[in-house]
Amino acid sequence: MISAVLQTSFLGDMVLTTPLLERLAGEGLVHVVATPANAALLANHPAVASVIVFDKRGADRGLGGLHRVAARLRAVGAQRAYLAQGSSRTAALAWMAGIPERIGFDTSGGRLFTTRRVPYHRSLHHAARLWQLANAPGDLTAPSVLRPSLFPGAAERDAVSQLLQAHGVHEGDALVALAPGSVWATKRWPSFDALATELVQSPALRDARVVVLGAAGDAPLAAAIVGAVASAGGPPAIDATGHLSLLGSAALLSRCRALVSNDSAPLHLASAMNIPTVALFGPTVPALGFGPLAERRVVVQHETLACRPCHAHGPMHCPLGHWQCMRELSPAHVRHHLEQIIR
Ligand code: SF4
Repeated sequence: MISAVLQTSFLGDMVLTTPLLERLAGEGLVHVVATPANAALLANHPAVASVIVFDKRGADRGLGGLHRVAARLRAVGAQRAYLAQGSSRTAALAWMAGIPERIGFDTSGGRLFTTRRVPYHRSLHHAARLWQLANAPGDLTAPSVLRPSLFPGAAERDAVSQLLQAHGVHEGDALVALAPGSVWATKRWPSFDALATELVQSPALRDARVVVLGAAGDAPLAAAIVGAVASAGGPPAIDATGHLSLLGSAALLSRCRALVSNDSAPLHLASAMNIPTVALFGPTVPALGFGPLAERRVVVQHETLACRPCHAHGPMHCPLGHWQCMRELSPAHVRHHLEQIIR
């Protein structure tokens, strides 16, 4: 059986699609249609035969682009397509590529292009929803089946080694990763710099070097953390924002004792590398399906706020103006959970 999996959604969705890819690889070749950013994440992945890049907002925009990508997809000869997102454009792509069996969610905007519809279970983790595109619900016997996987290669490991060497980190030095960014403003916990100060005072963590993960645009958040650690007299924090690819960030996480992250892509990278994770949820909740999946994990969230969740992704501004869901998560509380999870 040759399968095609179409996943052109967010980075986290791509990471959470990897259990499905591994399951399908047991039956034959698996080709994946992905955005350029998502394609880079799948480098070296043993379950993936090839990646067909669909630059839907760039080079492949419009009907001409759709036809070009459909021709590339047709060439791999897939008998089944799994539509791992709800977009009608992506579903149309599988139809245009002439793939005879097209499986998607019953809630999908592209369900008219499907030949089989699978219930979208809102109560499940998103990795489980995706996995069920190819499995009966009863087949899920072990939670570890749903843990995503990524495979940083030599290039990513070398990039990490160079970065750490440049900051005077030696083999065996303890690292703790902080990921303060998010595309959605209300998901950015505003107290990462205060947490960094707490870590300097923690008997369990004061010798660990703080390393800040994120995109180049997160540099101001990293600068605040680096400054806070310096003011508190801790070992110099490392700003890795914008210095590593996504797979490079996954490789760096594999060197860390733990990650503290908002509900954003680094959380899923840590799940894939099975790194202890403290996940901070504000306007969103894990029940939406995107909680951490590392074996050792803890979610820190406001337990009594009636307005949570207020958005599927997190709005750019708090609709109520007070942003209590994030402002009231205390750095001392987060530090406590971090200490517990690395113990
Ligand atoms: S409405 Fe509530 S959940 Fe939404 S951002 Fe504001 S405080 Fe957070």
